[in-house]
Amino acid sequence: MDTAKAVALMIAQKEKDAGFLYQKEKAEALPVVEVPTTCGTGSEATPYAILTIHEQRIKASLPHRVYPAFALVDGKYLMNLPKSILVNTAVDALGHFIESYINAKATDFSRMLCEYGMGIWSSAKNVLIGANLTPEECDTLLFASTLAGMAISHTGTSLPHGLSYYLTYEKGVPHGKAVGYFLPGYLAMAGPLVRKKVLGLIGFPDMQYFSAFLHNLIGPMDADDTLVTRAVQGIMANEAKLRNVPYEVTEAMLYQICNMAY
Ligand SMILES: [Zn+2]
Repeated sequence: MDTAKAVALMIAQKEKDAGFLYQKEKAEALPVVEVPTTCGTGSEATPYAILTIHEQRIKASLPHRVYPAFALVDGKYLMNLPKSILVNTAVDALGHFIESYINAKATDFSRMLCEYGMGIWSSAKNVLIGANLTPEECDTLLFASTLAGMAISHTGTSLPHGLSYYLTYEKGVPHGKAVGYFLPGYLAMAGPLVRKKVLGLIGFPDMQYFSAFLHNLIGPMDADDTLVTRAVQGIMANEAKLRNVPYEVTEAMLYQICNMAY
């Protein structure tokens, strides 16, 4: 879906080369129709396109904004997904909710989407740990994913997404799984009130239950010190991501978030 947005941009600027994708310049794109077949990216409801930039050994969001003209959101496309993709993408959607809710750019509108959407996500989360997947639950998970996309359209994502791209680029860890490693740490760094609120909305009594649930789904992070240091330093230099965090970020804090991923 993200590639479609990039292609729609480039087809509309035939005279430009690929470097244009990374230039901050207002430009029209062809209308894009998106049909999500996983329950994670929410790209059908966002203007974002995340592409791999090999020269920088990272994945990053294009500076352009391409809102899909239409999105066909139908849960039946999830029915035959491999279990691991269902799980990883549902964890991605959860990351979008948590990073949008705990975000310096959060508004009443984005928080409303998160509060409603986290409840929807939570109502189907048992299928991720082995409960039977029904067509209704497919619809529920996909609806949650689209709502999460709408939420991040308002706020952008935050530290877990920023950190995750290093794991995905260097170790090929699927996106949602890589985001999920950093969610307990990001939640732990937030204030106690907002943490309690989020845990309540997604149906966990405390951090321990939440961490255990995620650990059960995605296991521990496999990253050496060099990669963690590169990710931490990359985020400390990433003003766009730091701007989205509603508290002051220090290197020590980022290492703590990473340590909670093992
Ligand atoms: Zn994501």
